[in-house]
Amino acid sequence: MKISGECFCKAISYESELDENRIGICHCRDCQIISGSAFRMSSVVPVDDFNFTRGMPKFFDKRADSGSVRRLAFCDICGTHLCSLPVDNDSTSPFVSIRLSTAREFSQLKPVSEIFCDSRVSWLAPLADSVQFSRMPTRS
Ligand SMILES: [Zn+2]
Ligand SMILES: [Zn+2]
Repeated sequence: MKISGECFCKAISYESELDENRIGICHCRDCQIISGSAFRMSSVVPVDDFNFTRGMPKFFDKRADSGSVRRLAFCDICGTHLCSLPVDNDSTSPFVSIRLSTAREFSQLKPVSEIFCDSRVSWLAPLADSVQFSRMPTRS
């Protein structure tokens, strides 16, 4: 499906194709801190399927425990986190991970998987109809 979204102050907007079978929730500590919430809901799309349509975000390069570096994109006016991107010349992860809370279609979207369940907050039960992974699933 086609989605579009924007940051809270509307300075930055984007559009993308989205595979509804690739919507997931991440319970890792980094996502909890960066999202300001208990978990983050995202979907991964090929870089060519994603475009900024207004404004340009600021970037922050974040190194994961695995050693891989991802470029986080956020609005430097309102601070809304929009997506993560590959860093320059990184062809090993040619995808954009869209932070779906910013999408206009958010209320229609439902996660099919949960990752880093090891650090899920204790008061939150696993979602019915979603696949659970204790950490990062190994890529198939
Ligand atoms: Zn903004
Ligand atoms: Zn995470």
